[in-house]
Amino acid sequence: MKGWRKFVIAVLILVACLVLISGPEAKESAAAPASLQAIQPPSPVVMTALPWDDPTIRIPAPPPSRRARAPSATFSINYLAAGSTQGSYTCLAWDPAAQAAFAYAANIWASLINSSVPIKINACWANMGSPTILGSSGSYAVRDFPSAPRSNTYYSFSLADALAGYDLYPTYPDSMITHNNGFSWYFGTDGITPAGQYDFVSVVLHEIGHSLNFSGRMTYGSYCGASNYGCWVSAGYPGIYDWFVENGAGQAILNTGLFPTPSAALGSQLTGNNLYFNGTNANAANGGSRVKIYAPSTWISGSSYSHLDYSTFAGTPNRLMVHAISSASSTHDPGPVTMGILGDLGWTQTPTITGLIPGVTAPGGSAFTLTVNGTNFANNSVVRWNGSDRTTTYVSSTRLTASILAADIATGGSASVTVYNPTTALTSNAATFWIMTPLYNFLPAIFNQN
Ligand SMILES: [Zn+2]
Repeated sequence: MKGWRKFVIAVLILVACLVLISGPEAKESAAAPASLQAIQPPSPVVMTALPWDDPTIRIPAPPPSRRARAPSATFSINYLAAGSTQGSYTCLAWDPAAQAAFAYAANIWASLINSSVPIKINACWANMGSPTILGSSGSYAVRDFPSAPRSNTYYSFSLADALAGYDLYPTYPDSMITHNNGFSWYFGTDGITPAGQYDFVSVVLHEIGHSLNFSGRMTYGSYCGASNYGCWVSAGYPGIYDWFVENGAGQAILNTGLFPTPSAALGSQLTGNNLYFNGTNANAANGGSRVKIYAPSTWISGSSYSHLDYSTFAGTPNRLMVHAISSASSTHDPGPVTMGILGDLGWTQTPTITGLIPGVTAPGGSAFTLTVNGTNFANNSVVRWNGSDRTTTYVSSTRLTASILAADIATGGSASVTVYNPTTALTSNAATFWIMTPLYNFLPAIFNQN
């Protein structure tokens, strides 16, 4: 990075700090009713604009092979009317093109995660009064709800609803997302973002990612009682994200023997550029390594701790959940690391098939073992051949093998292969297996004619 760019970033970070210096509670909505003690109001997280074009980074939406055959979650977007308020912002009229891009982004998520409960988002288009903040997201959180996997732990509403199987607080939105009208936005959905413009679909995808609980409940500074202190946002209760965070030495951020809340010790962890998300699914998606999260030496409210590490991930397919985006770029796929993190947090995800080995065989052959590669396989997943269960062996979350019968390939044609997860009743995309005499038998004859 050129020196002047570093300087520009430093100035922008300073501006962001000044905008957000009032701390995580500053933009909270009205206090929850007394009868809902378990609710915590949102702590906003933001996405920052980088003031240069990077047209070399354009990541398309996940292909059908990685998405559910039908949407496995539903989003209900409430586009707030002009004049209504969200937090400290007064909403402006939505551009229909922006709404269409918002819906496009929500539909991508709807085919990647699973919930029987519609995810309700209040979406505000506003002058956020910042030259750097593209958008913000805040979610209500709840602990100790029915079926909560961990007690005394806050979950964002959308995830809590998905785990409980019903809408825990029907009169509340799950998340509040605000987008800043002060930028030149690109509302197209093709990802070909023109120079100088910011890709709206990418930023909406990012903010929805936070709404799905990609966000921790740690903060830093005066809110904690001293300028160098770190602390838990909700005294006594961490969030589910926090349970997975540790430092380079493997010490859990929630270890209050080492890092009391509030304390300077916790503060130095939060600003030590040395924090990792250590979860089974996240690590598997990250080549077996823990996932570095963003913990710059200067705490940046709304950016630190609740994003992937910029220098590690900005140049990779996992860049959606870094804290900043360049103009002229686009990222329409959360990427495997973020999907792994969401899986660790508790989202059940639709299995997908990305490949069959073999993918073709000649008619009339004998029984064989089919290897199915993909994602989100469970140890009780079942491979189905034209809808019928076949004896399946679980190898890993990305590989199954199945015993295919001689009768299955007796005649030419094709078969539809799917993977079914009984626990969640989720079925993958269908992959086609071809039963045909391999075409390469003919190729030598063709070559001989030349
Ligand atoms: Zn963010």
